Amino acid sequence: MNGKILEIENLTVSFDGFKAINNLNFSMDKGELRVVIGPNGAGKTTFMDVITGKTKPTTGKVSFKGRNLLPYSEHQIACMGIGRKFQTPRVYLKLTPRENLELSCAQHKNVFASLVGRASPGEHRTIAGLLETIGLISKADIPAELLSHGEKQRLEIGMLVAQSPDLLLVDEPVAGLTDEETANVGNLLLALAENHSIMVIEHDMEFVRQIARQVTVLHQGSVLCEGSMDEVQNDPRVIEVYLGTPQDEHPAIA
Ligand code: ADP
Ligand code: MG
Repeated sequence: MNGKILEIENLTVSFDGFKAINNLNFSMDKGELRVVIGPNGAGKTTFMDVITGKTKPTTGKVSFKGRNLLPYSEHQIACMGIGRKFQTPRVYLKLTPRENLELSCAQHKNVFASLVGRASPGEHRTIAGLLETIGLISKADIPAELLSHGEKQRLEIGMLVAQSPDLLLVDEPVAGLTDEETANVGNLLLALAENHSIMVIEHDMEFVRQIARQVTVLHQGSVLCEGSMDEVQNDPRVIEVYLGTPQDEHPAIA
């Protein structure tokens, strides 16, 4: 197998003849942190929907760790190691952060331990480490409903990591967060990127600048360009696409 975790060839998704994804080619290396940006309607969410099996392509190929994903259901693809974080946090509000993480660990690794109601000592270590990584040690044992929006986002990223996916897909993790919370989520993703493959879809340009190494710009369902944040920011095609759309809707890229 080559070092690619994800390879997408000539992907097209048509909705009643409208191509939300149009002959898109993309690949990502194992261990990479990739940010995907693009104006509204560029096809970013559809792209994630195809990777997770929620939407099946009209034509094209999607391979994960060298394996063709098209025959598999959304659930099977999740079990194969692709974890997705949706925009809105989906944590159990009445449970504590620690309990939320225990549940996520248990669901995916050790169903028996959760049936008998005890996390194994190894899991406790993992959960303590995760609580530290997501910066919630001091709030580990209060109900999650008392967390701020940013803390809930970090908890949900922790819950995703607890499932040990090989590839983490994160959809607009800082929408609606304060600047401080945005920086916290950025630092968390950077820390996780040291030993995970992560794809982040994002609009917030400050945030993209904070975390981006390799950036892919989508436009009208295709890859417009790829490169470092500096390369992408100075690409005339990208400037045109961003400046050609209303400023209040799409933050300027430069
Ligand atoms: P983004 O996430 O980049 O804003 P989307 O992937 O949500 O873009 O949408 C890309 C395009 O496809 C948009 O024009 C959207 O209206 C269209 N689209 C998305 N889902 C559907 C659907 N289920 N049926 C019809 N059109 C859709
Ligand atoms: Mg979207």
